[in-house]
Amino acid sequence: MNLILFGPPAAGKGTQAKRLVEEKGMVQLSTGDMLRAAIASGSELGLKVKDVLARGDLVTDEIVIALIEDRLPEAEAGGGAIFDGFPRTVAQAEALDAMLAKRGAQIDAVVRLKVDDSALLERIAKRYAEQGRPDDNPDTFVVRLDAYNRNTAPLLPYYDAQGKLTEADGMGSIESVAKAIDEALA
Ligand code: AMP
Repeated sequence: MNLILFGPPAAGKGTQAKRLVEEKGMVQLSTGDMLRAAIASGSELGLKVKDVLARGDLVTDEIVIALIEDRLPEAEAGGGAIFDGFPRTVAQAEALDAMLAKRGAQIDAVVRLKVDDSALLERIAKRYAEQGRPDDNPDTFVVRLDAYNRNTAPLLPYYDAQGKLTEADGMGSIESVAKAIDEALA
């Protein structure tokens, strides 16, 4: 079972992914987490992407596609993948379909978490205060939201055309969002 959790930053994708990992043994593949780990380790990749993340822009498709491809065997060996923060462009979505097809697999469901911009801004201010993630500062967050709207929103028709898209009210409780996800996966 392979799931894409889709939604703007701070929509609750990470929270839902962690639950699925615990309950279903699925493997969370968050390109944001992978990139932050690369930066923290000071690797060549980390140095390359540090400024891009700090600005709130998207890193290149090649970089994130390679990161995901490396982790697909691990997800396959577990209970399937939860793609969190990937794909973010149509090119990434096409590459993901091709990588999975090569392995005899596919995306089974895409759940879009819908949250108002004003609620997102509130959530992000709270996360910034609690975790201090530099790209959660309000100025960068506006850039990230804009990148989402420009590059990522066109992915909705891509998955809708494949009949895989479900929408969940991301303003609801964690439990109600979880129920919507479980129904999409059933
Ligand atoms: P996230 O934690 O998913 O919000 O990602 C944090 C940052 O990592 C984003 O603002 C981008 O700079 C970068 N990033 C994460 N995933 C991707 C992706 N699929 N494509 C391009 N850039 C990404």
